[in-house]
Amino acid sequence: MLKAAARYEEVLAAFSWQVPQRYNIGIDVCDRQDADALALIHEPEDGSVRRYSFGDIARQSNRLANALLAGGLRAGDRVGILLPQRPETAIAHVACYKAGLIAVPLFTLFGPEALEYRLGNAGCRALVTDTERLPVIEEIRPNLPDLSLVLAADAAKDGGFFRSLSTAMEQASDRFTPLDSAADDPALIIYTSGTTGQPKGALHAHRVLLGHLPGVEFPQEFFPQPGDLFWTPADWAWIGGLIDVLLPSWHHGVPVLSHRMRKFDPEHAFHLIAKHGVRNAFLPPTALKLMRQVENPKGRWDYAMRSIGSGGETLGAELLEWGQETFGLTINEFYGQTECNLVVGNCASILPVRPGAMGRAVPGHDVRIVDDSGNILPAGSVGNVGIRKGDPVMFLEYWRNPEATAAKFAGDFLLTGDQARQDGEGYFWFVGRVDDVITSSGYRIGPAEIEDCLLKHPAIAMAAVIGVPDPLRTEAVKAFLVAKPGVPADAGLAAEIQQFVKTRLAAHEYPRHVEFVDTLPMTATGKIMRRELRAKEIERQDRS
Ligand code: ATP
Ligand code: MG
Repeated sequence: MLKAAARYEEVLAAFSWQVPQRYNIGIDVCDRQDADALALIHEPEDGSVRRYSFGDIARQSNRLANALLAGGLRAGDRVGILLPQRPETAIAHVACYKAGLIAVPLFTLFGPEALEYRLGNAGCRALVTDTERLPVIEEIRPNLPDLSLVLAADAAKDGGFFRSLSTAMEQASDRFTPLDSAADDPALIIYTSGTTGQPKGALHAHRVLLGHLPGVEFPQEFFPQPGDLFWTPADWAWIGGLIDVLLPSWHHGVPVLSHRMRKFDPEHAFHLIAKHGVRNAFLPPTALKLMRQVENPKGRWDYAMRSIGSGGETLGAELLEWGQETFGLTINEFYGQTECNLVVGNCASILPVRPGAMGRAVPGHDVRIVDDSGNILPAGSVGNVGIRKGDPVMFLEYWRNPEATAAKFAGDFLLTGDQARQDGEGYFWFVGRVDDVITSSGYRIGPAEIEDCLLKHPAIAMAAVIGVPDPLRTEAVKAFLVAKPGVPADAGLAAEIQQFVKTRLAAHEYPRHVEFVDTLPMTATGKIMRRELRAKEIERQDRS
């Protein structure tokens, strides 16, 4: 949707939304494409490789759409998709969109409680999954009265409460007339990561994909270009995998690499990029922090990437520099949230990157710093990141939660729940989630800047910063640190690190308390759950 130009202002001036009245994601990403063109390269865990054309995806999604309707589902019904990166996941999404069913992507990492909450909250009538997950579904099924159809990939034949996905598809026709949906009709419910509390189901319309395009094309340096091949280790159950990578690639007819990593393996990431000639990637900061620990990747693998985007958490100057060395390109940070994604970003070829800044508003999105009532604040002020209503990428509502939906808006703006500052040139600087901002001796401190500084210390692999209750200062800064392997994590190192931050940032920002840990609590999307660290800390103080 973006037209390439030499300057940001020119790209902005040339931009206009192209969102037709009637639009269906399934038709767009599949039926409309060249049937012979390559859509998917799938590498299962055994290292073999399978290729799928758009024609293959069209026929298989037609079969599944027919099977779902034959199973009693009707337009508007919800279908859970509980699968890792594999062809059936993409096929299930396309089938739902074409049939007017609402897709509910679910992480395979979820345990019974997390699954029961989401399947129950969304009222899913069908579930597409695989045999590995059948025991947990069997366990929670009695509590899910709406769930009447379970289709299992890898099942050779039907069982007690489930049907074999392949049998159901074989018995269905490979012809299907997709629903001529309105762009505003509901298409999917994606649950937020649950970093700050109980996850909320964000209901999105078909237009969400068109709304995402500028935010993908910008940080991926005017995606697509000839020869592009997109990959992300992020799960397709997350908006970052599904609508930032898989579906926009297919909208543009660009192939995607799919591979399931049970646990992110940074060496294997380099291997995959080199083996398949991956040109574009979305690599969340957590993945980059692990890849940064791999020694001498340039000497060990032969790769040539064209664009890398990162987002979901602060990228920081340290990873930016590492990206330059390792890939010879600038990792473009972007920012958004499940409810309204990819609205701020970098595009290094036309916007000089400012290390630490998330970038400028992506063309098409009106992003402002506003107060709690939705009034625009002057440049330089810290305030809420607000996105002006009427944006095609904006969600419809929180599923069955009108109170939360109403609370999300103020005046003309959606309030993201994040605090940031916009400088005179329009760059946004992330301060922190409203809940994560630390109040210490009258200062408001964002954890992001301190965490970035901590990562610059050669002994540190991961860092999380929170405020802990302090009688003198309201809150004091505390850092939880994961040391690199082989580094003795002792009092000497703690003191050295405190000094390191003091000399680089302001004196009031250095962590008065430092604790070394083996791991940090993270969501399934790899986000640090600072609220868990805070809760533990308060518990500890109560005990002492
Ligand atoms: P929940 O809303 O359930 O607490 P969540 O907000 O983590 O979970 P997501 O929608 O997956 O769920 O994450 C969006 C949030 O991630 C943003 O609101 C912001 O706090 C953070 N985020 C996204 N991009 C960036 C970025 N570039 N820098 C810093 N933080 C980011
Ligand atoms: Mg959120």
